Amino acid sequence: MKKNNILYIIIPCFNEEKVLKNTTKRLVKKLNEFIKNNKISKNSKIMYVNDGSRDETWNIIKELNNKEKMVTGISLSRNKGHQNALLAGLMTAKEYADVVISMDADLQDDIDAIDEMLDKYYDGCQIVYGVRKARKKDSFFKRVTAQGFYKFMKLMGVDIIYNHADYRLTSKIVLDELENYKEVNLFLRGIFPLIGFKTDIVYYDRAERFAGKSKYPLKKMLNFAWDGITSFSVKPIRFILTFGILILILSFILICYSIVMKITNHTVPGWTFIICSIWFIAGVQMLSLGIIGEYIGKIYNETKGRPRFIISENLLETKETRYKD
Ligand code: UDP
Ligand code: MG
Repeated sequence: MKKNNILYIIIPCFNEEKVLKNTTKRLVKKLNEFIKNNKISKNSKIMYVNDGSRDETWNIIKELNNKEKMVTGISLSRNKGHQNALLAGLMTAKEYADVVISMDADLQDDIDAIDEMLDKYYDGCQIVYGVRKARKKDSFFKRVTAQGFYKFMKLMGVDIIYNHADYRLTSKIVLDELENYKEVNLFLRGIFPLIGFKTDIVYYDRAERFAGKSKYPLKKMLNFAWDGITSFSVKPIRFILTFGILILILSFILICYSIVMKITNHTVPGWTFIICSIWFIAGVQMLSLGIIGEYIGKIYNETKGRPRFIISENLLETKETRYKD
């Protein structure tokens, strides 16, 4: 593979006025080192995506763009959330870049891991996931909630890389495929493993946010987790079905029990009938909901219209060469 490809670093920004200048300084230095060592093209860029910030973020991005030709940016019409901002950046960048790396504005993700990411990319990897080694520097609360999040996602049947946030290298080939995932409820961490291709992992230490506040309070985190589960898994629907079956089984046991009670004259009139009806009807209802849910689950998967397969290599001749002689 030819070296010095064009690299774009994509950074979604929401009210990040406090960190932008410092982040730019550190990244420009890093990219210039790569350019000097012929690892990336001199047309590589840092691309900020202003996600409808309410502070000076966009003005600072424009100012940085004037001063430093390596810095560029796009601005969304309003705040659409981290995942959408990231997608906007990726889809814009893929028209200019051979390879992109997404990261957060606060550089909590160690930028020195880019070296290894690029090496793996030149070795033929199309996706390189940045994975946090430990979370020593995160607050206890963040650590517990974040780790709980990954474990819960796994339990719910969503295939995600443990401790991988959105610090990731992706090649243009992968981004072209990503474009075919038309879903509106975006959970990029779940989509990339579905795309496949040769992938690898790079481990790094996660630092503290050096300025500004986290833009992911608990409420947003819970929303994010819920989006991840409901966009990737029909397991919650299966739970209803299983629950329905269990209640129905229980109702048969209770029916037997109440008949015995009736025969042995341990009941008041009407009790047997009411108990049997309540449990049986509840079981039937729950089961029916589960069955309807199964169909809704199918419809939901169909409406997403995700690609059913992606061809990574093709040994057939192309049409042009086939008809040449
Ligand atoms: N972000 C965004 N839109 C939002 C919220 C966050 O673009 O609505 C960006 C934010 O500017 C940052 C990244 O997403 O670059 C991650 O946010 P943050 O560092 O606050 O999250 P944490 O590291 O605390 O999970
Ligand atoms: Mg952060």
